[in-house]
Amino acid sequence: MKILKTAEELARFVESTDFNHPVGFVPTMGALHEGHITLLKKAKEQNKTAGVSIFVNPLQFNNASDFTNYPIDTDNDIRLLQEAGADFLFIPQKENLLHHFTPPVYDLAKLNDVMEGPFRPGHFQGVAGIVHLLFSLVKPDRAYFGEKDFQQLAVIRHMTKTLNLPVEIVGCPTVREANGLAMSSRNRRLSDEQKEKAGAISRFICSLREVFPENTPTEIIRQEVFRQLEQRGFVPDYFELCNPDTLEPSSLFSSALSLQACIAYHAGEVRLIDNCAYTSV
Ligand code: AMP
Repeated sequence: MKILKTAEELARFVESTDFNHPVGFVPTMGALHEGHITLLKKAKEQNKTAGVSIFVNPLQFNNASDFTNYPIDTDNDIRLLQEAGADFLFIPQKENLLHHFTPPVYDLAKLNDVMEGPFRPGHFQGVAGIVHLLFSLVKPDRAYFGEKDFQQLAVIRHMTKTLNLPVEIVGCPTVREANGLAMSSRNRRLSDEQKEKAGAISRFICSLREVFPENTPTEIIRQEVFRQLEQRGFVPDYFELCNPDTLEPSSLFSSALSLQACIAYHAGEVRLIDNCAYTSV
């Protein structure tokens, strides 16, 4: 595995004969887990060259302590990537990557007005900026993103489409712990008890069909989800049922509509998000 620590080293690699197209690329913030490795494996299956970036993007943190406390585990990340057969790892320092970078302002349409948008001002502009920058350096043919970050995936698809970027965006299913909890680098900061309780929340938002009758108002479901969160000592940010493409919220849980159940909440100092698909029947 080539480890590239600067944009200049990456540029030389991208021009080399080792960089065979099609190229699959997985942008990450490190502290890797099975979710990230699944994305890499898909990139390996579908491309001749497959690699990962690790960059804790300061532009996408709207909360200073979340940024400072973001887990870093580079030696273990390198080991996992080598075991999984990555061809390259791009792991730049902030000064190197962002030295000459003035992030543009992106048209995110209404995708930024819902769910994470109001709770994390500037977050998706920061995500779009860094992903766009990474695309321009790596020049991948395909880029792999997890459905775990459902709204992020919608934002990246939108940016790629509106800017006509020559990259195919591949969405990959959420990888979960045995108890249902979506894998996340932030889970490292949870206690065993919090992990168990958060697993129950994930299982609940993935079993709404079994619990709520057809056409239940979203507000009723939200109240129950919030009650379950509070019962476990968690603090809700939002629960929404939204259109999976436009992210427009639905006021009814109707089986005639494809809907994504999306949630964000705080477990102590750790903010967790998750989502689950309900396809129309
Ligand atoms: P992050 O390092 O958290 O920025 O995530 C990097 C990529 O991995 C993003 O596209 C995430 O959506 C994806 N990802 C994170 N956790 C999971 C998971 N549990 N299952 C699938 N993809 C994931």
